[in-house]
This record gives sequence, C-alpha cells and structure tokens, in this order.
Amino acid sequence: MDAKTAFLELLNAKRATSAQWRNLLAAEGEEERQFKQSEAAAALTTLQGAINFWIDTGFRSKESKGSETPTGRHLPTHEGPGVLLDIARLLNCDDPVSTEAGVWTFQASQHRKKNPLCGLLAMRMEPRGGFRFAPILFGHAWPGNMLAAWAFYFFWQQDTWRFRLMRCAHCRFFSIPERKTRKSYVRGWHCERCRNSASAKAATANLRDSLRKRWFARAVSALLEYEGGPRRAGNDLVQFITDRVNAGLKPTNRIKRNTITRNLAAIRQMAERQKRAKPQTESEALR
Ligand SMILES: [Zn+2]
Repeated sequence: MDAKTAFLELLNAKRATSAQWRNLLAAEGEEERQFKQSEAAAALTTLQGAINFWIDTGFRSKESKGSETPTGRHLPTHEGPGVLLDIARLLNCDDPVSTEAGVWTFQASQHRKKNPLCGLLAMRMEPRGGFRFAPILFGHAWPGNMLAAWAFYFFWQQDTWRFRLMRCAHCRFFSIPERKTRKSYVRGWHCERCRNSASAKAATANLRDSLRKRWFARAVSALLEYEGGPRRAGNDLVQFITDRVNAGLKPTNRIKRNTITRNLAAIRQMAERQKRAKPQTESEALR
C-alpha cells in the first residue's frame, strides 16, 4: 500500500485499528514499531485534531473572508497546536520557538534529553534527488501522542499534500484530489459523493430557500447602511453587501458575491419599500 492511500485510510477511520497504523508506518519503512491498541485509537484522535486545525486555518486567513482558502493555511505563531510540542518531544528538542517571521524553530540541547524513546533526526537521500528527514526512534512501545506526532510530521513534509488535503464540509471525509483545488470555496469544499448525490441536491434546494430568508434581510439592511453612510473609497456596493451578509453567517451558509449581483434589483426594491414604510420622522409629522 502506498503512503498516500495508507494515510487517507487512517485519517478517515472512525476508530483506528493497529493495522491501519501499521500500513502507514510500513509505507514509510518503520515496520518494527509497537504500540497498544488503545494508543492507536488515541493517536488517531490527536492526529485528526491536528489535521482539522490545519484545514480550519484555511477559513481564517486574511484573504479568505470566511471562505475556505486552502492556500491560505498556516500555523499561527500564537496558537500552534499541541502536536508541535509533541513533534519537539519526538525530535528530543526543547519546546519549539516561533520567531517574528512566523517560523517555528526546534532546537536540540544535549543536556535536556527528555524522551528516551527518541533520538534526533536521520537524513535520507532520495535516489532521484531531494532529502527526507525523519526522527530516529528506538524500538520501544510508542505512546499515542508520539504516534500522532510522527504522522503529522510525516504529513507536514509532503509538499503536494499540505494544501491539497481536503475535508468535505458535509460528511467530513478527507481526500487528496488529483485535480488542483480552486482558490476558494465559499461554503467549504465538498467530496464527489456529496456533490453528486440526489438527496444532497434536494437538500440544497430546500436549504437555498431557507438560506435566502436569512441572507436577504441582512442584504437589505446592508444596502440601507451603505446608502446612509459617507461616500466610500472604491465604492464597491456588491462587495460591501456580501461582506456584511457573510459576517453574520456560518461558513457553510455563506453566499457568493455573484448571488448579491443577481439579486441586487430585488434587494434595492425591498430597501425602497422599507424606507417608505418607516414611521414618519418628527419634522415630517409636524408639517
Ligand atoms: Zn462528503
């Protein structure tokens, strides 16, 4: 089994068995590892947590505005996940330090050998060029957090996986699509099965109606706010409304800019109607 298949099978497991871990370890030449079944399950939970954290950063990057933007994924220096600490332990290093540039540094100091299971790094030269670095591990039974740290470390080294690993916003299935992913997904990425299923389509149609109720009112107030405010530089009305609407919606309910463009006339109409329906102001009543 190749490493990619093994990694995805493991990641998608409801409850990891030792066999699934062994497949991944074997694909990376780490065949002799031992661990308890209970550790295998705990390790998967930790690994999924770290991977979910990584994917979720793609919703929070500056350019994403709440849409899923895979290329915007990054480990923020102020809230790196616990798995980084475990990677430091795996490498027998001190806790990782982050610099202003947002780079994490792992440093080994000989006097602080924390983990007797682990050495530092082994370097492998690939036959067709390139280096791979892997932690040196001694043949004891691994605790789950080490197993998870090893897997995350392994994932982290794969240039073609980091930004291409996707999680379905509907069924949470992980995959690494062959096709390059789009720059952004307003409602999150969806797996092929969820995109194509008839029930998903029907659900989408129903959802569209109920969602429309939710975003339409927001769009109308955004338009009124825009008209009431001072003249804005750039003057992008559609973007202004889209941002205002999405600011209050869950990621899965967000709308596209194009939705506002298509419905702008209806939004304007409703805004006009609301303006007319407003109770008279004091000066009008006195007239
Ligand atoms: Zn799905």
